[in-house]
This record gives sequence, structure tokens and C-alpha cells, in this order.
Amino acid sequence: MKAPFALRICTTAFLLLSATFGMAQSKETPMKLTLRAQERAGDGKFKTVEKKAEWAPRETALIIVDMWDAHWCKSAAARVVELAGPMNEMIKKARGKGVFIIHVPSSVVDFYKDTPQRKRALAAPFARTKSQLSTADRWGTKWVWPDSSREGDLPIDDSDMGCDCAVKCTIREAWTRQISTIEIAEQDAITDNGQEAFNLLAERGIKNVMIAGVHLNMCVLGRPVAIRQMVQQGKNIVLIRDMTDTMYNPEKKPFMSHFKGTELVVDHVEKYWCPTFLSSDITGGKAFAFSQNRSSGK
Ligand SMILES: [Zn+2]
Repeated sequence: MKAPFALRICTTAFLLLSATFGMAQSKETPMKLTLRAQERAGDGKFKTVEKKAEWAPRETALIIVDMWDAHWCKSAAARVVELAGPMNEMIKKARGKGVFIIHVPSSVVDFYKDTPQRKRALAAPFARTKSQLSTADRWGTKWVWPDSSREGDLPIDDSDMGCDCAVKCTIREAWTRQISTIEIAEQDAITDNGQEAFNLLAERGIKNVMIAGVHLNMCVLGRPVAIRQMVQQGKNIVLIRDMTDTMYNPEKKPFMSHFKGTELVVDHVEKYWCPTFLSSDITGGKAFAFSQNRSSGK
């Protein structure tokens, strides 16, 4: 009688152990990403290079930039509405793998001042950054301007602010919060402040940052939690290239479709700043494309 009892204990212990191990393993399973960049070849021309990367979810954050509830440009606002649902699905998948989510609704974080996610960002202990964070002000946060020692001019002319509507929209303060389609889970954080973001990352030992949101030619490059500053501070940042949009009016140089303009800015990022990948690497599904882009056959 003794042996079967011992065997039962062993079996139970084994099952418990494998359940625990299995759970731990699923949280630690690396995310497999195909990173695309443009590297300068010997002849001085850029060529597209793809590299496989495996990132530990626990060492990775996903930053969502300026997915506001409204925008002064009607077309831009409609594209955010279209993007928000698929982006929320991607965020849920990433969060489920153990990635830390930081929501960045720039200039309107006060909407969330009483939430635990906003308080979490404020409470993160101060972490010294590699170099001083940008002190320039623009559009309600600090700003990292283009770096001529590193990057060429943007490939699109956005000097008119990029409204691509038939009847031009008037610039106004339109947004009040992040679009409600994107869920903010208990364990997420909310900030639009560079120091707070670096504090949150340091607190968790996070070295990899994935970034998505709008608009790539402006805030996804220039905000204090965004590409330029993350690169300057030595973070391993990558852009999710199908989960972004630009402010670009095809009536301006280089006189291409709005979506071609976005592709050109993605190229710019891949040349001068960081690699990109597709959200399908996280979701296991299809990459996102705007319906207007799909119907134009591009
Ligand atoms: Zn517009």
C-alpha cells in the first residue's frame, strides 16, 4: 500500500511542478520578431536588411503614442478610430505575454490623474538617464527635434501640418484623453513625461521598447518617450510599422498618396533611427492596413 501512496504523492507533485513550470515558461517564452532596417552598403546606398530577434517579454515595454479620442484633422481622427481596435487586440496579446504597456496620451494625462496607472508612473523611483533628457518644449510636452548629425530631412513636407482632407481642417485643441477603444489594464502605466517613462523602465529592468501610435513624422519621433529620445538614451527601440500613421497631405512634396508618404517616413526611421517590425509578429495574425490603403491596391 505504501508504494502506490508514494507514487500518488510523486504524481501530484510532478503535476503541480509541471503546471508551475509550464506557466513560468509561457511568461518567459521569447517573442520572435523579424526586424527590418536599412543599412548603408559599401556603395553608399541603403539596402534593406532583415534580422531575427528574440526578446524576453519581461524585459520589453510597448509604448502607445497619442492615440487620442479626437483630432483637429477629420481624416487623421478617422484613421485613429480604424487603427484603435486592431491595436487594442495587439496590446492584449503583448500584455498576455508579459510585456509592460505604457499609454502616452500626450498633453492630456491629467484626465487620468486619479487612476492607479497614472499614479504608478508618478511613483516610480528616479532613475538617472545616460544623458540629459530633452528640455525643449513643444505641443504640451518636452520635444526632441530632428538631429541633423544623424538624419536627413524628412521625406515628406509636413509644413502645412499634413491635413489630407478635401476641405482643410482648422487646427484646434481637439483631444481630451486616449481613445476608449484601447483598454488600460490594471498593471499598465500612463505618462507623457520622459523622466517618468525612464523611471518605469529602469524599475523593471526593461531594455527593449516597442513603439506604436501616431503620428510618425511628428510625435512618434519627437515626443520625450518616443524614438529619438529612446535611441539617445540607449534603449533597444523598434517601431511597429503597420500600427502608425502620418500627418501628410499629398498636395505637398513628394506629391504621393497619404499612405505612400507614411511608407517613406517608415523608410526614414529604418535608415536613421531604428528597425521596424509588423504587429503580426505579436498577434500571429495578419498585419494591419488601413481600408483606404487596401482599396487603393498599394
Ligand atoms: Zn483634415
